[in-house]
Amino acid sequence: MEEYTQEQHGKDSKIYDPYPFIRKIIKTNFILSCAVLTWGFTLATLNYKACRSEKIVDETHLQEIIIEESKALDMKNKDITGRFTEAPFGHGQAIKLDYNKYEIILDKKGRNRGVLKHELYHILKGHAEEKDNLLIYLFIEEPQAALYGAYGIKL
Ligand SMILES: [Zn+2]
Repeated sequence: MEEYTQEQHGKDSKIYDPYPFIRKIIKTNFILSCAVLTWGFTLATLNYKACRSEKIVDETHLQEIIIEESKALDMKNKDITGRFTEAPFGHGQAIKLDYNKYEIILDKKGRNRGVLKHELYHILKGHAEEKDNLLIYLFIEEPQAALYGAYGIKL
């Protein structure tokens, strides 16, 4: 009788117990949420650090730093100009104007060396050529540029 009960109980839990499945979903979502939060926090920290770097005082200074930082990245063959204006996303943006011709725009909070380096790195890595899908931009291109803008690390 006892043996029969155990067997029945085992069979019932296999058929009716939804908890392992629900637990798996909760666990996966938790891990994903942690990963996304960590990613967001890391990017925000890197960009914050870039925004606290050397100030760029005017557009003449901007052009001098573009030349200096382009040399550091071996991008002398590219024609890059800079301008202070509102950026549609974030504090800066690299825009392709023509073949080998780019413009970097920096808004009021992005007028510093770190943000400029971030945008130059987007140009170097070809991110300004054509917009890739949002996930590639968010999880590959943006972290690469943020890391270079903050610490000069090339990935
Ligand atoms: Zn960026």
